[in-house]
Amino acid sequence: PSQDLRWNFDNTYAQLPPTFYFKQNASQVAAPHMAVFNRELANQLGLDAEQLADDAGTPIFSGNANPEGAEPLAQAYAGHQFGNFTMLGDGRALLLGEQVTPDGRRFDIQLKGSGQTPFSRRGDGKAALGPMLREYLISEAMHGLGIPTTRSLAVVLTGEPVYRDEVLPGAVLTRVAASHIRVGTFQYAAMRGQETVKTLADYTIARHYPELQNTENPYLALLEAVIDRQAALVTKWMHAGFIHGVMNTDNMAISGETIDYGPCAFMDAFDRNTVFSSIDSQGRYAYGNQPPIAQWNLTRFAETLLPLIHDDIDQAVSLAEAAIIAFIDKYDRLWLAGMRAKLGLLDEAAHDKALADDLLALMQRHQFDYTNTFRQLAETQTLPGDEAEIREWLSRWQQRFNAQPAPLPKRIAAMHSASPAVIPRNHLVEAALEAAVRDNDFAPFHNLLAVLATPFDAPNDESYRQPAPPSIYSYQTFCG
Ligand code: AMP
Ligand code: MG
Ligand code: MG
Repeated sequence: PSQDLRWNFDNTYAQLPPTFYFKQNASQVAAPHMAVFNRELANQLGLDAEQLADDAGTPIFSGNANPEGAEPLAQAYAGHQFGNFTMLGDGRALLLGEQVTPDGRRFDIQLKGSGQTPFSRRGDGKAALGPMLREYLISEAMHGLGIPTTRSLAVVLTGEPVYRDEVLPGAVLTRVAASHIRVGTFQYAAMRGQETVKTLADYTIARHYPELQNTENPYLALLEAVIDRQAALVTKWMHAGFIHGVMNTDNMAISGETIDYGPCAFMDAFDRNTVFSSIDSQGRYAYGNQPPIAQWNLTRFAETLLPLIHDDIDQAVSLAEAAIIAFIDKYDRLWLAGMRAKLGLLDEAAHDKALADDLLALMQRHQFDYTNTFRQLAETQTLPGDEAEIREWLSRWQQRFNAQPAPLPKRIAAMHSASPAVIPRNHLVEAALEAAVRDNDFAPFHNLLAVLATPFDAPNDESYRQPAPPSIYSYQTFCG
């Protein structure tokens, strides 16, 4: 019986020339079982959340049945992985299509872990339950924190094993994104030639930056707009203590959303050199390197656009260079504005940057918990510890803080909304995933997810705010 689940696909990417994708269906799986479903997101997408959460969703979100109007395809892209250029593509993902919401917004609906494609190289095309639950949890946490991100609609168990270092339960994640166009998609197009880049750039402008269509130089304007969004995104990561972990150019979305949650994690004690990813032995994607790496990736993006920016290559290069250099200024300005909010400074004074830098230096020296230090400042206007240099900083801050015309409650409210009480702490994430994967107990996962939906509210259960107990092992994350 055909049910109206309120799918409303309009698949513009599938109308692009075939060089951009390979059309195919997901692999059939043996015994699909819904593990997690995001009713709130389903409702926002205009879908029938009640039916999809139940029996109707399981075949769709496992890949066993196509939703009405879907045209599954694996997207082609390339990318610099840890600095090395490679041809890639969706090796374990399929774009089902673009769902247009009742209020006219367009979202990619993508399956991840749905089987092999022509881009799988040596991979099995599959995903294990743990990493898919991890992406679900962290992407939804990012959304709660107000950081642009892909979102997670469902995780379905496949009933099939996945072979990694051990045998793990297989799963498929359904990911929702403004689009999956990446810097790497432009790099792929550039390998195919200038006409292909133009097709992609025109498509991207129409889809994400329609206001640029009638500007004097739309391709330069596209570069500048993407630089703006990435500067804003990386600023938010830095303010939240988020480390993406694999900022390869294929994992940087042109829409400005955080994409591809592999070995990402949130920092506990403040340290610019923090790296969690087991594969990032050089620390290329360490916390403090994220702004320069974003700029490096944007330079790769700019290179693909050069022939469109100007007929004269020297002119094109100097225009693109100016845009790339401006990234630093944009980032610095946004970073300071966000830091002012975290410090409760609603106006601007000359030494604000030094005040913020000095606090971070103190935090680094004393190994203060990044999240809790800012939150303590917001909640009690104090800092942990009472060493002389800490008291000295506090009195400098109090002077500056109290010399403002804005009323105290307003300043304190600004601090509360700039510094979350809860983040997805690594030990809590691990415990939630372990209970789900090993014991089929999803309660810790759902409890953590619920707390992370409103991270700026102090949680009733204080344990969500505690840093990890000291351990002889340092925390490491792995790609799923
Ligand atoms: P990522 O590190 O997740 O950004 O993935 C990099 C590339 O590897 C992308 O082309 C993925 O589609 C591909 N990939 C990752 N895992 C698998 C897998 N298990 N099977 C096939 N391809 C994969
Ligand atoms: Mg990726
Ligand atoms: Mg990945």
